[in-house]
Amino acid sequence: MIDEKRVVTRFAPSPTGFLHIGGARTALFNYLFAKKYGGKFILRIEDTDTARNSAEASEAILTSLRWLGLDWDEGPFYQSQRTAQYNRYAQKLLSEGKAYRCFCAGERLEALREEKRAGGESHIAYDRACLGISPEKSLKRSESGEKYVVRFKMPAGGTLSFNDMVHGAVNFQNDVLDDFIIIKSDAMPTYNFAVAIDDHEMNVTHVIRGDDHISNTPKQLAIFNALGVEAPVYAHVPMILGGDKTKLSKRHGATSLTYYEEAGYVKEALVNYLALLGWAFDGKTEFFTMDDLIEKFSEKKFGRTPAVFDIKKLEFFNQSHLKTMPSETKAGLLYNYVKKYMPDFRFDEKYDNMDYFRSVTDILGDRLKLAGDVKAYAQFMFIDDIEYPQDLIDKIIKDYGAPVAARALGLIADIAASATDYSPAALESLLRNSAIENLNFSKIAFLLRSSLAAQTVSPGIFEVMSVLGRKRCDARIKKLSDILRKQN
Ligand code: GLU
Repeated sequence: MIDEKRVVTRFAPSPTGFLHIGGARTALFNYLFAKKYGGKFILRIEDTDTARNSAEASEAILTSLRWLGLDWDEGPFYQSQRTAQYNRYAQKLLSEGKAYRCFCAGERLEALREEKRAGGESHIAYDRACLGISPEKSLKRSESGEKYVVRFKMPAGGTLSFNDMVHGAVNFQNDVLDDFIIIKSDAMPTYNFAVAIDDHEMNVTHVIRGDDHISNTPKQLAIFNALGVEAPVYAHVPMILGGDKTKLSKRHGATSLTYYEEAGYVKEALVNYLALLGWAFDGKTEFFTMDDLIEKFSEKKFGRTPAVFDIKKLEFFNQSHLKTMPSETKAGLLYNYVKKYMPDFRFDEKYDNMDYFRSVTDILGDRLKLAGDVKAYAQFMFIDDIEYPQDLIDKIIKDYGAPVAARALGLIADIAASATDYSPAALESLLRNSAIENLNFSKIAFLLRSSLAAQTVSPGIFEVMSVLGRKRCDARIKKLSDILRKQN
């Protein structure tokens, strides 16, 4: 049973780069689990590896989490600012004889490893050379400035077990773990020590993370045991794989969340798709909003087999979410997107406003796969001086003959001008019921679209007419008609 009153989860990224798909999935699961049970979601930046971590990477991770809407209730806590804390705990373990200083030089340890390796040993444990140093002597040597690390004294024998929410019972023999380092010679904690201390200090009750961390778990459990505190409950979720069934990485293309934002994916689609990478509701339902997910998320439905990341599927979700978005939200989102990421999207000043933008995006219907598709479908609606590409003119000449097309467009212009009602339905019925050069309706629509859009794709052409308005339509139809008349 999950004690709903005290659920605390955390996302604990190491800031080595952008937030990637795998990290975002981990963050989302922890967020959903906390929200589902009315608990708290903590953000903790594990930045003690100064050589590999950067402040820019931390910022980028925060930005992507905010973009996804994974707002944390506490934090961000930075491990780099908490070193005193870790050293305090290390002191406690030292004073209780549960840890000891190790003064062995790196060269000696390397030689030891070499020797064991040469002897065919695969498990290369520290030989406990410093365990015998008396506490007084150890303290003296440290005070005299000698370099040392602090090692955890692994209890001999016994097993370390936990009940994983994904894998069930997991057991490790204590003996396979050596006296691992908890504090490095620069007084920085090692990963396993800092994680355990923080999970304890921050009252974390549930840890959902990638199953690449399973082998770290016994070390963390050993520390909880030594401190005499309860360990969190773990869920080690399967890795995300690329199409070739190897761990998803840069080789498979873009994995950073910023890439997906810039490419025109909406956060609703990412949240939806990421949730399905290692979790399923009923095996059928796939479309979820964040609210649905919070309601339906369950630790009982984690998958055991690795999920394969499929960009086509993500694209499908993107299209579905764009389709179902309220008109005003969608317009705002698309407008911000083109302004931020499409410097070559053109606006004549009079068409650069939200009301007009919304009237255009409203008629795009289900066409958009990516936010940027608004350019391909509707750029022509935001500018007045459109140019007709030669290949379009050539195609019309070939399919209709220039004189027929020119005359047909002239008639279309007259009929449109006579419309008393410029609504899509009225315009359509008017043009459907007119005889124009013996052309069938799809041929008429093609000419109309060519003249208004200067291309062969657009939203519904009568809706386009209605939004462009009488004057702009009239000018465009006549312009193309004139061009065709002048062809020989
Ligand atoms: N900082 C670790 C990582 O980014 C995660 C630690 C954890 O979840 O326990 O892989």
